[in-house]
Amino acid sequence: MSRIYNFSAGPAVMPLEVLQEAQKDLIDYKGCGMSVMEMSHRGKDYDAIHQEAIATFKELCGLNDDWSVCFIQGGASLQFAMIPMNFLGAGQTADYANQGTWSNKALKQAQMIGSVNVAANCQKDNPARMPADDEFKWTPGAAYSHICSNETISGAELKKFPVSGSPLICDMSSDILSCERDYTQFSMFYAGAQKNLGPSGMAVVAIRRDLAERGSQTIPTMLQYRTFVDENSLYNTPPCWAIYIFGETMKWVKKMGKENLFRLNEEKAKKIYDVIDDTGFYRGTALREFRSNMNVTWRLPTEELEAKFIKDAAAAGMTSLKGHRSVGGVRASIYNAFPMEGIDCLVDFMREFEKKNG
Ligand SMILES: *Cc1c(COP(=O)(O)O)cnc(C)c1O
Repeated sequence: MSRIYNFSAGPAVMPLEVLQEAQKDLIDYKGCGMSVMEMSHRGKDYDAIHQEAIATFKELCGLNDDWSVCFIQGGASLQFAMIPMNFLGAGQTADYANQGTWSNKALKQAQMIGSVNVAANCQKDNPARMPADDEFKWTPGAAYSHICSNETISGAELKKFPVSGSPLICDMSSDILSCERDYTQFSMFYAGAQKNLGPSGMAVVAIRRDLAERGSQTIPTMLQYRTFVDENSLYNTPPCWAIYIFGETMKWVKKMGKENLFRLNEEKAKKIYDVIDDTGFYRGTALREFRSNMNVTWRLPTEELEAKFIKDAAAAGMTSLKGHRSVGGVRASIYNAFPMEGIDCLVDFMREFEKKNG
């Protein structure tokens, strides 16, 4: 077996233990005589998988029974549309923080539905950053406010969340369960599963039941949050396999221990940032206080050197280090499952590359 160091932004590296467990269960899930992919979503074996996945996630996030956890296909991008469809009624305004590519995409969907106030705007700032607390201009009586905790492309992460005065909804696609966070300060948070939670194909949506209840009743059933809340994401056939792997990944997080995992994430990012800061050869692209622990972004002196860096790294067993096509440069996505050995390998490579080309 040879596993490479995969710095992909998503779908991304998964815990090896989870893949091995899935492999073990693939053909015959715990003596059921069939795989999870082949089971009825109404049967007791699948039901146990479904309930345990939700329970473990709620425990990890510290959510009580005021909260519902939903599995909704269409990734984080469908959430960009569902949020305003459910909560942005006629005559209402929603506040959006425009902090980068993803939050911009979210707010554009809301603008197709209703009135949007851009509460803060640093989307195009270079170096990349997040808004400061006193920059936000909230609308009194807003329907809700939307924010993104980690801009995956720019590599800027919000370390502290503002109090908006309306239900706060957060896109946590790329940093959910990666650091200490009070999840109860939000009314809803969601993440495309393919970065920190499991395979692609769904978003995991945590929503306060009272918020879901307030959603529009005139949009199609499959677009209403209340459908997923009331039917426990079993109104129609859910993505059973993705939910099973999500559940295994949550068990892995629990086994690792949150504190331990969060500390490792800090250490992993710091090792790379330390090399970036050591000399002038590498240049970090996010402001220091907003540097992401999940997506580390930097530039080299020229685009030619960046191309060579990415190519040579791939030859040395480290793939997907190319920055997003919209911004260029180098990006190391180092989610929860990314191993420390891969960081050490990258850091050694960075020092060597600088010696030869600096
Ligand atoms: C990846 C990502 C998305 C898009 O997720 P999809 O599941 O592909 O729709 C949205 N927001 C953030 C912050 C992301 O990192």
